[in-house]
Parts: sequence; C-alpha cells; structure tokens
Amino acid sequence: MTLRREVLFGGLLGLAFGGSATCACHAQAFAQAVQTPHTLGCLLADADVERVYPQGTSTGRYRSGQEPLVGSSGDRDFDRALAETLAKCADLFEVLPGFAFFDDHNGLNAYATNRVRMQRADGTVLMGQRLLARLLRQPEAPDACVAAVCAHEFGHILQFKLGLADRLKKGQSTVKRIELQADFFAGYFAGTRKRERQAFPAAVFAMTQFTFGDNMVNSPDHHGTADERAAAVVKGFEASYRQKLNLNDAIATSLRYVSVL
Ligand SMILES: [Zn+2]
Repeated sequence: MTLRREVLFGGLLGLAFGGSATCACHAQAFAQAVQTPHTLGCLLADADVERVYPQGTSTGRYRSGQEPLVGSSGDRDFDRALAETLAKCADLFEVLPGFAFFDDHNGLNAYATNRVRMQRADGTVLMGQRLLARLLRQPEAPDACVAAVCAHEFGHILQFKLGLADRLKKGQSTVKRIELQADFFAGYFAGTRKRERQAFPAAVFAMTQFTFGDNMVNSPDHHGTADERAAAVVKGFEASYRQKLNLNDAIATSLRYVSVL
C-alpha cells in the first residue's frame, strides 16, 4: 500500500527537517517555554495569546479561497494555493476560523486558539513564519506539508467547537489524544482531497506528522510518537478515502480510535 510504504520514508523527511528538534505545535516545550509557558500541545493557552497573537495582528478568513492572503509568503502562487487550502479546510470541517501568521522565533510552531480578532470567527489558526519557511523548503510537495499542518490546526478548531478537547484530556496526563485526533482529522482532509483529485500527495501528510512525533511519553506535552502520529493520519485518510465517512461519522470513528491509545 503506497501510503504505508511512503510513511517509512518519513524518517528521511525528518532528517531534512533537521531531526528531532523540529516542531509544529508539536512537543518542543523547551524551546517554546519563553513564548508560550502556559501552553501544552498546539491549543494556545489564554495566558499566552498576547505574546503570540497580539491585538492588531492582521488576520484573514477564507471561505471561498479567492480571498487574498493576509500576510504574504512572498510567493503569489503559493499564497493562492494556501488560501484555497484554508477554504477547503473550512468547508470540510464546517468551521470558519481566522488565520494569521506569527513570529515563532522561540521554536517552529503552529497553534489553534479560541481567541478571535475578527467578529464571528470560529477561533484562530496561527502559523509560524519560520515553520512555514521550513515547510516550504521541503523537497517533496512542500505545499502539501503546509496543508497537513493547517488541516491539523483546523482539526483543533473543530475540537474547540464541539468541546472534544476537554473530553479527550479527561483523566489523561498528556495531550496525546487531542493531538492524535487532530492528526486523524488532517488525514481525513487528505483523503477527501485525494478523492477529488487522484494525484493529491496525501502520503506527505503522514510523513509530515511523522516527523513531528516525540518520545517524551511522560511529558504533559507528549503529542504521540512518530509512528502513532503517522498511523493517526492514515486512519483519518482511510475514513474518507476508503470508507467515505461523512464528518459526523469520522468524528465518532476518531474518538473511538484515540480513546484506546
Ligand atoms: Zn496540535
């Protein structure tokens, strides 16, 4: 199976990322401690919002995908593709968060928060500028690497909206189940895109999240091992691509899946 085989190459991608120090919302507590001391996982703690996402930060919302990207990457084609990806995430997950870039100088990262800077937004997805630059340097389908991170963060927005994060955290010493459900949602997005367009590089999603795995299993910030993260993406992919589950059924499947991890 192509997807599983390609997952094995995630280790190579990890080397390309620069090894285990890389993070994307993703288990790098030591590097983030200054900027986000109260945050676990990529659900940005209220007490850290001002440091990462101060009042006045330019924020966009992408419903059609035709909206100009607020905060350009410097590449017009990529900006257009990213706006389209964000709109597709919004459509699939039935949420409409704000989206903004931030300066992740303390460690490559992306976050989701229920704080809004735009009226009627379903929270906000925050993409680190340095993380974005790093993802765009990936040799294989860099736009899909970015899409994987965005879909994961939109998955967190869905968790906020449905109150899933509190439910998944209950009785747990780590944020692993929350993060792996977001990985499942990223895979669900990839499976849906691949149903629309066979050439969509869905395997890159599993490879990307594989590289963000960590082995700090006793840390409250543990996101899941590399294998667990890739496997969660594959599960979500299959829920859409093979099982063709609608969103509600996919959510139910994801909850059953992560509740035994
Ligand atoms: Zn996350």
